[in-house]
Amino acid sequence: MGLLDQRFENSNVLVTSLEGLLNWARLSSLWQMQFGLACCAIEMMAASASNFDIMRFGVIPRATPRQADVMIVSGTVTLKMASRIKRLYDQMAEPRYVISMGSCSNCGGPYWEHGYHVLKGVDRVIPVDVYVPGCPPRPEALLEGIMKLQEKVRKESVVKQKSA
Ligand code: SF4
Repeated sequence: MGLLDQRFENSNVLVTSLEGLLNWARLSSLWQMQFGLACCAIEMMAASASNFDIMRFGVIPRATPRQADVMIVSGTVTLKMASRIKRLYDQMAEPRYVISMGSCSNCGGPYWEHGYHVLKGVDRVIPVDVYVPGCPPRPEALLEGIMKLQEKVRKESVVKQKSA
């Protein structure tokens, strides 16, 4: 018999750690930096529509990096755009996350060999937490990427990061 068995019969008690509570709140409200780069962005928009409803995961688009937790890089990253993406990333508050959506963002995609104007992976300018494969990935794949990111956030230790 556990120590707490039979101790709270007439009340509802929720037992968790502060860290667990903070992580639950953070993974349930991953606000998304609102922008798209190319064809993959169409699938990202589809993920926001009623069929897939990405907002049920707490992913809400924000029009400013200052209010965003996650950047979804959806599409071809040209060399001209790469510095803009880096600047937007730098303007996001920590902890911040990046999902690379689609082959172009992951590794250059169809432009990998001859695309002289395309960055061969957005992880050359910013750190990526989750890679979603596909050209383009379906909305379900992006939703799985969100869930992978939520798993990562659940295991993080924000309290230790702050006190370190
Ligand atoms: S990965 Fe394919 S669908 Fe996505 S932006 Fe590149 S070419 Fe377009």
